[in-house]
Amino acid sequence: IYILGIETSCDETAASVIKNGNEIISNIVASQIQSQQRFGGVVPEIASRHHVEQITLVIEEALSEAGLEPMELDAVAVTEGPGLVGALLIGINAAKAFAFANGLPIIGVHHIAGHIYANQLMQPMEFPLLALIVSGGHTELVLMENHGSFKLIGETRDDAAGEAYDKVARVLGLPYPGGPAIDRLAHESDDAVEFPRAWLELDSYDFSFSGLKSAVINYKHNLEQKGGEVIPAHVAAGFQQSVVEVLTTKTLKAAKEYNVKQVIAAGGVAANKGLRASLEAAFENEGIPFYVPPISLCTDNAAMIAAAGTAMFVDGQRGNMGMNGRPGMSLTSWSK
Ligand code: ATP
Ligand code: MG
Ligand code: FE
Repeated sequence: IYILGIETSCDETAASVIKNGNEIISNIVASQIQSQQRFGGVVPEIASRHHVEQITLVIEEALSEAGLEPMELDAVAVTEGPGLVGALLIGINAAKAFAFANGLPIIGVHHIAGHIYANQLMQPMEFPLLALIVSGGHTELVLMENHGSFKLIGETRDDAAGEAYDKVARVLGLPYPGGPAIDRLAHESDDAVEFPRAWLELDSYDFSFSGLKSAVINYKHNLEQKGGEVIPAHVAAGFQQSVVEVLTTKTLKAAKEYNVKQVIAAGGVAANKGLRASLEAAFENEGIPFYVPPISLCTDNAAMIAAAGTAMFVDGQRGNMGMNGRPGMSLTSWSK
């Protein structure tokens, strides 16, 4: 089975061909990072314009690198939501046009399901499975009892982890996106500022990162008032320690409570070196299999969309030409 995946939900224009749901044949990602750095973040209209310019080229490149003709494909999988509506529509319309022109079925994929299925490109999923999703817009613990079934057991009550990274980076004067920059500084640091941990209620799997963000802002403000010098690396290290400790502790607790066979991490913040090391150590201690994809499959890409799309294709699911962008699409409502 060959599936073409298309992803345009945010700021990466991406297309990929996947064989049998687990083998990457081609994986093209056109990033808009330079233009975002000029504006300090993603501007929806500019993101859409980039997608329009790139989408045809990216699809053509994914096919030519795969060495496949369109008619050798079995279906086109595209991100249906959540994301920026204008950005989503460019991928969806490209997918519709491509599917119609080549007589292929179209499959709509939830972007976060895609992040989770990036793991399927590395090793087969085993259920029950616990997924820690940490991305620019989401921080969730999801229990999967089967392919396509997603039960939300915890989520952020305010900022997503990636959002917190980006905001704290901005406070520290680091370039967008902030995650990689903070990660690097944290690793170079010889000391760490002590920041609070947001545990919330004892039995809650929910998260909160806005208090931590405020703590960083207050720390900087107070120190500057006193004429002290803020050392970005020390702030980065302290912030990262707080995020990583809470994410690791809650994920481990949930994995034990739900007695899962496999734990996976997904989403852009799963690229974080500190988080990867902490989760790997915690689960190795407990003898619970833990996996996280290589960094290029943690951040947005179309291989993950094609992988999730293949699972749906095998399950007999098909979309139709009435497909629309669904900016606020929730994972649980989309679950089987
Ligand atoms: P969503 O997937 O929730 O719709 P998104 O697609 O914008 O949001 P991703 O592309 O999955 O999010 O991830 C981007 C986020 O990951 C950014 O907030 C970025 O700062 C963060 N990120 C990337 N690399 C790292 C890293 N090494 N450490 C921490 N955060 C990182
Ligand atoms: Mg992105
Ligand atoms: Fe994403």
